[in-house]
Amino acid sequence: MNAPLPPRLAGLAQIARNLSWSWHRDARALYRGIDERLWHAVKHNPLRFLREVSAERLEAAAGDQRVVDRYAEIMRWSRHEQTTQGTWFAKAWPELRGKTIAYFCAEFGLHASVPIYSGGLGILAGDHCKAASDLGVPLVGVGILYRNGYFDQGINADGRQQDTDERYDISLTPITPLTGPGGVPYLATVPCFGRDVRIRAWRLDVGRVPIYLLDTDIEENHADDRPLLSKLYAGGPALRLRQEWLLGVGGVRVLRALDLQPSAWHANEGHAAFMLVERVREFVAAGVPYDEAVSRVRGSSSFTTHTPVPAGHDMFGQAQVAECSGPVWEEMGITREQFFEMGHHPVVDSGTFHMTAAAIRLSQRVNGVSRRHGVVTRELWTSLWPGRAVDEVPIGHVTNGVHLATWMANQVMHIFDEYLGANWGNQLDDPKMWDKIMDADDATLWHAHVNLKGVLLNLIREEARRAFVGRSLEALQIVGAGVMLDPNILTIGFARRFATYKRASLIFRDPDRLHALLTNAAAPVQIVFAGKAHPADNPGKDILQQVYQYTRDPRFEGRVAFVEDYDMHLSHLLVQGVDLWMNLPKVPMEASGTSGMKAALNGVPQLGTIDGWWEEGYDGTNGWAIGEAGVVDDDEVTADRLYTLLETEVVPRFYARDEHALPREWITTMKRAIREAGMHFTAHRMVRDYARDFYVPSILGGTPDDPPTG
Ligand SMILES: *Cc1c(COP(=O)(O)O)cnc(C)c1O
Repeated sequence: MNAPLPPRLAGLAQIARNLSWSWHRDARALYRGIDERLWHAVKHNPLRFLREVSAERLEAAAGDQRVVDRYAEIMRWSRHEQTTQGTWFAKAWPELRGKTIAYFCAEFGLHASVPIYSGGLGILAGDHCKAASDLGVPLVGVGILYRNGYFDQGINADGRQQDTDERYDISLTPITPLTGPGGVPYLATVPCFGRDVRIRAWRLDVGRVPIYLLDTDIEENHADDRPLLSKLYAGGPALRLRQEWLLGVGGVRVLRALDLQPSAWHANEGHAAFMLVERVREFVAAGVPYDEAVSRVRGSSSFTTHTPVPAGHDMFGQAQVAECSGPVWEEMGITREQFFEMGHHPVVDSGTFHMTAAAIRLSQRVNGVSRRHGVVTRELWTSLWPGRAVDEVPIGHVTNGVHLATWMANQVMHIFDEYLGANWGNQLDDPKMWDKIMDADDATLWHAHVNLKGVLLNLIREEARRAFVGRSLEALQIVGAGVMLDPNILTIGFARRFATYKRASLIFRDPDRLHALLTNAAAPVQIVFAGKAHPADNPGKDILQQVYQYTRDPRFEGRVAFVEDYDMHLSHLLVQGVDLWMNLPKVPMEASGTSGMKAALNGVPQLGTIDGWWEEGYDGTNGWAIGEAGVVDDDEVTADRLYTLLETEVVPRFYARDEHALPREWITTMKRAIREAGMHFTAHRMVRDYARDFYVPSILGGTPDDPPTG
């Protein structure tokens, strides 16, 4: 039960209801300072914290002047956050005051306590919203409230992933239900497979950016329709189609019900393509001829594609889509054939509606998420512009970035405070500011890192202990969970979705060579793995199982660990606490990759294949790279180069210590990693790119159209 809040701290509940607390260190420190043990026990969820904290603790905090001062400071920025005054966007485009930009995405990863994301795409969308809030870019998000989250991962004794529903209590998240006119619980209605589905919306505040989350679980809906939006990426194509239809069409209608009339629209990944279709329908319903409706929708829309992997691009049978949508083409003043032309893929089977093709046709501004992915995407989609040379295909790129204040450890920020000046948070865009990190004191940076590594390894051991007690795991499983990890050893982190192209098991290709590296008494190495395989991805689960089996192989002496249930919380600890980040995607399958950017911001250099962001990010001094730009690699060759790099460069540099036991050269690599990530790979840089090159031109209009003709 909630203890009553002392009047001097009455705003604690209000602060907890906007996720911006999560990226303000003073706000985090405020809760932590009231009851540190509880703060960690509730996994940094302030609403749960306030439910469980004792009245005594609250009274003690209210009597502590430092706490009260910090609280007053946080209440001040929380008020400041209610306006956009003085923000980058407001200063750059004062004439656009009052405009809004709609940002549609099937998942948002904002904090571990709001489990409506599965991985990279969602976290990128979350970081995008946070940076938009900081910069005053007038974004409103539209997504889905998955009441059963993604899934919780457990691994059985054979190393097979077991998926269980991820249950969470919405009342312990800052998500609030909205009601329609007259108090009805829904805001919009969407026809779907011959029935009217009513859509309820919830609001989630992310600083200045509201995200509207759609939900169909209300009594007014048919029993079969109520769970349609309850699980993320679950079920087969039939459910996916329904979810995407409801997101796109329902999302637009919910915005209208809230009286929002965005001037620019962004479909983040093809899942949201029906948003564009619905807007064409709206224009036609308002009397605009179809062709002009399409060109108006194009002019105000942006589309970002996130992967060259075919499974990442949804397509649905035309008959299915027609059943789902009903004869919506009649409302659009076109024939059924014309309707399906929108989602026609010029090369792949013509009996389908291809979500990416539709999104490209209906958006004037289209981009990939790194320079390399821009090239790959133009190659993939030349067929939409027949007769054009690949480099004339009008698809660009905006390289992804990560939200610094979300991903950088407090300990690293303290170093910034000391060496970059107290105001560094406001100068993130100044390259000269980032140069100063090279002057930071080596010992200070190193000790901060060693500290973070200790936090990670402690947590891993404690989790293993808990699993031993709670689930009676066998000794071998406990070893595999990481109890034998040693804080003095070079620690490699590999955490990501277990998609086959990410090649989690590549480092085991030559077990003898790996064995020699791990167990070298003078310079040993250990590896920590984490990651979920998509519930339907059996090849991914096979790789996970292989890796899991290696963790229990006595030959590797307890130096390979797998930590279960990778989420944003674990991700934070890993990117801040390992020594080296390893990333081995098969070229050219990794569109960007963002975990390596998070690691780099914390002084954890990356060793990776030249793909995605690493082609731009690797400068010869800030980590290690395998392969050459644009050259497709082969597992055998890549594994060989990986071992050679580890043997001849990485391990020797890590263990070369001076008389103060400091690895000077390694620390220089750490600083170079921070500098490069800070200069070029933050979400602030990314959102400024989108605002300047996509959103503002969309709002102002007037750019010549260049539609696909294929
Ligand atoms: C950053 C992140 C990802 C994406 O990482 P990639 O490098 O793009 O694979 C996935 N899951 C979690 C929990 C993350 O924090």
